[in-house]
This record gives sequence, structure tokens and C-alpha cells, in this order.
Amino acid sequence: MRSRDGTGYRRAATVVFVGTHLSFKDRVVEGRDQRSAGHFGHWEIPAAFERMRAALDRSRIIAIASFLGVLAGVLPILAAFYMAWTIVETRRQTRLSDLAGYVLARTQATFGDATNALRTARRLTDPTCSPTHIAALREIVVNTRSVEDIGYFANDTLQCGSWGRPTIPVPRSSIDVTLSDDIGVTASLRPLISGGTPLTGFHSGAYVALTSPGRFADVPLDKDTELAVLAGFNLTVVDARHDPDLQRLRRLASAKILDNQTLYAVARGQDWTVVAAAPKADVFRDLGDDLPMFLAVGAATSLLMVGLVMWLSRRRLSLPGELATAIRRREFIVHYQPIIDLKTGACVGAEALVRWQRPNGETIRPDIFIPLAEENGLIEPITHQVIEMVITELKDLLVADRSAHIAINLSAADIRSGSFLSPMAALLKTADIRPDQLWLEATERGFLDAKVARATLEKARQNGHAIAIDDFGTGYSSLQYLQDLPLDALKIDKSFVDTIGIDSATSTITPHIIDIAKSLGLSVVAEGVERQEQADYLAQRGVHYAQGWLFSRPLPRLEFITFYQRQPNGPI
Ligand code: C2E
Ligand code: CA
Ligand code: CA
Repeated sequence: MRSRDGTGYRRAATVVFVGTHLSFKDRVVEGRDQRSAGHFGHWEIPAAFERMRAALDRSRIIAIASFLGVLAGVLPILAAFYMAWTIVETRRQTRLSDLAGYVLARTQATFGDATNALRTARRLTDPTCSPTHIAALREIVVNTRSVEDIGYFANDTLQCGSWGRPTIPVPRSSIDVTLSDDIGVTASLRPLISGGTPLTGFHSGAYVALTSPGRFADVPLDKDTELAVLAGFNLTVVDARHDPDLQRLRRLASAKILDNQTLYAVARGQDWTVVAAAPKADVFRDLGDDLPMFLAVGAATSLLMVGLVMWLSRRRLSLPGELATAIRRREFIVHYQPIIDLKTGACVGAEALVRWQRPNGETIRPDIFIPLAEENGLIEPITHQVIEMVITELKDLLVADRSAHIAINLSAADIRSGSFLSPMAALLKTADIRPDQLWLEATERGFLDAKVARATLEKARQNGHAIAIDDFGTGYSSLQYLQDLPLDALKIDKSFVDTIGIDSATSTITPHIIDIAKSLGLSVVAEGVERQEQADYLAQRGVHYAQGWLFSRPLPRLEFITFYQRQPNGPI
């Protein structure tokens, strides 16, 4: 499956053995060149398909992102409007409740004053309408702030009042409602003295006290606010301000209707009820003050959220973003490429090769996403998932056959951190798999910091794992690694195997690599064996193991297990 271009390898291989004249940078560029040349060489058509699917995927993401973007733009502004409305409405409502409560308190105080004045008058013992009686009445009126006048009636006609005797006959007004202490109320009467302003009359026995309705409700009112003071249970209106629709206010007070055009508040006392009402439309007017501030906050939130949606969707649209999601959703699967013992032809194990299985069914090859994961610091969680999968998927096989081994690929970051070691040890222990059944493959890229690499590899070795150097000869390596690092095996890269039987400059290198490995006591595994001729050559040269399409492509778990159990000599 690996699609590397032959010339790239030839060049790369030359770097190892001849090219000490290249600067480090040149070598890196050389290495990259060779990789990307490989990616395009054989994959034009599948890559086109992948791009098409990716484009479809992208348009879905863009559609969702646009939808979310519109929501993110509109919702905060609507929310700001709603909040401003609610706050203004609540404020209005509170003002109405405060108003009703205040007016009720004033009304009750005034009523209390009038009741006391009447009680005092009724206790007077002077002969009625005598000068002393009249003087006493005057004194009561002077001492009671809210009472304008007190009159004494007999036979329903006014006999005298605090100002003296009437000059014309004044009949007693009828009582609208009777409150506690048997005090009768005349809601509105027009006595001669007040110059035509309606007054409220309180009746007790022969006496009537007059009060100005202003005493109840002389408060500043907002425009459009209606206010009514209602006496007793049959709700006679004593005072009403701003020409209210009394019928409606009475209904509001008795809570018989719920009016959704009106904001209102009702304060109830024992004898009195106060209703304050204002049209809801007023809230719109008041909004003018608060809305700009709320809208500014709403617009800022909108911008922020739109930005967030854009940022998230760009992240989602970028491959590293998708990769991070894939790790979270565990979208990886492992295929196993059999490793064959060239002497016996038996399968001795496999190399675990990861694939990215996208939810849309598409499979992405490691050549594409492993370098990306490495560049974006995402490789370690992938390695951990591969290790976990290998252990769960092949536990039975590995426990049943202790000679079988699986090779796992490590990236530079894995080797740097060594973070996979202890979780792997724990998993192996639980699964009862012996550590020597897991081989670790590391490329020369992982050895750049030789000291750190050494520490991890030594630890891995102490734990019982065998370590193979992968892609040997393709990097910008020196042979020094082979001597310095604790290695058990060397994998001859496909580019060298490809040259077997072909007359080319690199073909002479392959036997050298084999010799070097042998002299260092390393096992040799040849990769990418596609032709029988290659296998024969390698076997004859004493190479122990080989993998390649000649034997098998990388296989899904079940197929690999079947392959393993069906091999020529049967499982070892
Ligand atoms: P592949 O499965 O496409 O893997 C390509 C490379 O991705 C691997 O190269 C390895 O560097 C990386 N890789 C795969 N899985 C993992 C993983 O779990 N972790 C990390 N860190 N890296 C991973 P490598 O190791 O040289 O693997 C051999 C490649 O050669 C595989 O490609 C395999 O399918 C392919 N191959 C095997 N036999 C043949 C053959 O006969 N002919 C051709 N053309 N390709 C072959
Ligand atoms: Ca490998
Ligand atoms: Ca390799």
C-alpha cells in the first residue's frame, strides 16, 4: 500500500551512506520531498474521491455552522430585547404596586382621622348647635388635618357645622357603603362651602365629616396611570384620577378579569382597596431609555458568539480539528499485516497498522494522518488507542500462542515521553500477555534526541519488549544509532527490497544493510516483499522475517486470526 517513489528512496538512501556533504536542513527537505512524492504517486484516483467526500462533508459543516452563526447572531439580540422588556415591565409593575400600597396607607390614615373626629364629636355633651357645641366642632376640625368640616344633622337636614348654622336647608346625602365601626361613606358630595369640589363624607350617628379626596391620593402620577380608591366590598369609588375607566378598574380590583393590555396593582386593606393601572404599551415608551444599553450588550454577545461559532467551525473544518474529534470518538481501527518466518514460511505475528475509519464510511490511510497527528501533538493518544486495541483484539491469540508477537509503531513523541509504557504494562498484565509478545518499532526520527530515546527504549526493553528500528536507511540517520541504542531488530525498508533483482545503484546497498544487522546481532525483517524472487533472495541471504503483499496485505482482526491459524505448518 505504501506508495513511495523509487527515485526518492534512492536519493534518500544515498544520503545515509554517501551524503555527509548535505547540511541538516537539506536532509530534512530531502526527507520530506521523498514522502510527499510518495503520497501523490499512486493515489490520484482515491485521493480525488477522498477530496470529493471531504468536500461534501465540508459543505455540511459549513451549512450547520452558518445556521448556528445566524442563531448566534440573532438570539443574543432577541434575548437582550426580552430582558430589557422584562426589566422595564417589572420596574413599572413595582412602581404601580408601590403606588397602590402608598395610597392605601394614606387612605387608611385619613379614614382613621375621620373616624376619631366623629367619635370625639359624638362624645360632645353641649346642647346641640349651641355656640359651645359649634366651637367644639370647629376645634375638632382644626385639630384634625384631613377633616375639612363636621356637620350635625337632625331629621336628615343639616342643623349646624363647624362654621355655624346653614342659611339654606341642606339635606343629608345618602350613604353609598358602610364600613367598619358602622361608618357610612358618601363617595362624592358637593357641599356649598368647598366651592364645588367633590368631597367624601363619613357618617357616624348624627354627624358627617367631610374629607377632601386629595387626602387619599394626592400623589404625583405617571402619564397614563390610572388610580382609584375603592371603599368597602361593593367597591364604591371614592377617588379616581386621570379619568379612569371605572368599570374596568373595578373589575381589575375584584380580579374578575385578567387584562393583558394593562399592567395593574391592587392593594387591599380591611375597608379599602386601591387599584393602580397603566397600559402595557407604556413599557414600549420606557424601553427607549434602557434598550440601547441592552442592545449594545446583546450585539457584543452576538459578535462573540458568532466569532466562537466561526472559530469552532474552522477548527472542525481543519484536519487537525477533525483528528482531535476522531481521537475523542475513537474512530481508529487496526489492521494486522502478517510477518512470515522466511525459513519455515510460518506466520510468527503481525505488524499493527492503524487506520482512521470516518463516520461516513471513508477510511483514511496512516500516511495521511500520522504525520498530521505528529505535527499537532496528537500522536500519543493514537498510540495509546492502538495499544489498547491490539491487546483487546488479539488477547486470545497471543495467550494461546506464546511465540506469536505483534509489532507496534511508535512515533518520535512516544519515544520522547515514554508515556505509553506504564499503561501498556498494566494492560498486558491484566490480559496475561507476555511483554516479549509486543514488539516496538521506532524510526530514526524518534532517535534525534538520542539520550531521551535511549531512556525510553531501555525502559521498554527492561519491561521485556523487543525493539526494532523501522524504515532503516531512509532517514537522515547515522549508523551510530545502531551501536548506541538498545535494539533487537532492524526492518529493511521497502525501497531497498524493491531494488532486489533490479540493476540499480541502491541494489548494492541491500546486502550491506543485511550484513550490518547481522554483525550487530540484530534480527532482520524485510518490508514490502511483493515478489517471490525477493523472498528467495532474502531467505538465501539469511534474513529471518519478511512481510509484504506476497504473503498478505494488512488484514482486519478476524481475517488475520484466520490467516494465522491456516498457515502452512499450522500455528506454532
Ligand atoms: P500503511 O499501513 O499505509 O502505513 C503507512 C505508515 O504509517 C507506516 O509505515 C507507519 O510509518 C505509519 N503507521 C501505521 N500505523 C501506525 C501506528 O499505529 N502508529 C504510528 N506511529 N505510525 C503508524 P510502515 O511502518 O513502514 O508500515 C508499512 C507500510 O507498508 C504499511 O502501510 C503497509 O500497508 C505497507 N506495505 C506492507 N507491505 C507492502 C507491500 O508489499 N507493498 C506495498 N506497496 N506496501 C506494503
Ligand atoms: Ca512499521
Ligand atoms: Ca517501515
